[in-house]
Amino acid sequence: MFKKILVANRGEIALRIQRACRELGIKAVMVYSEADRDAKYVKLAEEAVCIGPAPSALSYLNMPAIISAAEVTDSEAIHPGYGFLSENADFAERVEKSGFQFIGPTPESIRIMGDKVSAKQAMIRAGVPCVPGSEGELPDDPVQIRRIAKAVGYPVIIKAAGGGGGRGMRVVHTEAALVNAVAMTKAEAGAAFGNPAVYMEKFLQNPRHIEIQILADKHKNAVYLGERDCSMQRRHQKILEEAPAPGINRKLIERVGERCVAACKKIGYRGAGTFEFLYEDGEFYFIEMNTRVQVEHPVTEMVTGIDIVKTQIMVAAGEKLPFTQRQIEVRGHAIECRVNAEDPYKFIPSPGRVTMWHAPGGPGVRVDSHIYTNYFVPPNYDSMVGKIIVHGDTREQAMARMRTALAETVVEGINTNIPLHRELMVDAKFMDGGTNIHYLEQWLEHHKR
Ligand code: ADP
Repeated sequence: MFKKILVANRGEIALRIQRACRELGIKAVMVYSEADRDAKYVKLAEEAVCIGPAPSALSYLNMPAIISAAEVTDSEAIHPGYGFLSENADFAERVEKSGFQFIGPTPESIRIMGDKVSAKQAMIRAGVPCVPGSEGELPDDPVQIRRIAKAVGYPVIIKAAGGGGGRGMRVVHTEAALVNAVAMTKAEAGAAFGNPAVYMEKFLQNPRHIEIQILADKHKNAVYLGERDCSMQRRHQKILEEAPAPGINRKLIERVGERCVAACKKIGYRGAGTFEFLYEDGEFYFIEMNTRVQVEHPVTEMVTGIDIVKTQIMVAAGEKLPFTQRQIEVRGHAIECRVNAEDPYKFIPSPGRVTMWHAPGGPGVRVDSHIYTNYFVPPNYDSMVGKIIVHGDTREQAMARMRTALAETVVEGINTNIPLHRELMVDAKFMDGGTNIHYLEQWLEHHKR
């Protein structure tokens, strides 16, 4: 096992990784930008290194600064967290070339999955169900583009191979708009992602977002840890997640989970990963794979009792997965609410000084947050300041616990989206379960203020 790991991230995930290291008896070296000097995990750290000024490009995205921080502290491995450099294959490669273990998959795996066209082709080969669409990249010939769209059936969605974060996509409803839409998406993709390749998929009208968590080691073992429902989204950003997904046939989940595991073995995947699917009319359609730990990983930890971050570290050190598929059991129900420093209805970011922070507690309640009373939320980064996660024997109990937890939580000095979560937890449709990816935006439209 490693003796020392460098945590190349910030915020709640930096604290989460620090906690996992502590449990494993590993020293965690924290890095921070000048804006994060007073972060809780920096104060708690045995060792911390400043890697640059506040802007991410100069600190958390600064590869040489991070690698030299690992060098000067004699770290053996680097955990990239999520966001920032976590899905950057060049970074993973530089980490390994500099003699450190990258806590994540190989650069090759990241590269295959980072290009959505090659990811989809790999999934089709592994027997994972995908959204019907073009076989690979779209050609330039308008006649061929029209022919492909006709075969797929309108509406279609044109997506950038290099896209991410909900950008580089365009829905097309008619043949008349098709060729122009392809040209525009290509131009935008070239400018935004440095790769003009685009592909086509059937546009699903009312899907749910369901994803499958997997873990794999370097000894060809892989398992799936059930699914998460992340359909509650605004502008493709998830705001609350749950596990398991309400109302989906368990046998179907098992079949899809087994295909994901087979795909991991086929591409030699290692570490934690998530297969994201759209789910509509009883069918799963793969859309992309995330090759890192995700924000919403705690709901899976709560229902399986497996520590995903600890397991990531253990398999990176070469250990075998300490459980088999048959030993993994999904118990009860878990819900996570992301706490964002923003206006709850207008979504304007609300950084600043937290004058009061009181976290909830009680049975089945977990809080992953780096904030504290008198902490200053810097304006430079993502607005998420923490996550409230609950577990219950049933979905009803989990919702009841979440209502209590949200009622107990006090944040003063900044605005947060907690009032929105409080309303969603008593919303009749949410309480029924199974709302689709458009539900939250429609709800917000009806609850305008
Ligand atoms: P990104 O990497 O930018 O997040 P994804 O491929 O994961 O891109 O898609 C993001 C979101 O776009 C999905 O969660 C879904 O809301 C929508 N989307 C993507 N593909 C389709 C599709 N074929 N049909 C309907 N919606 C889609």
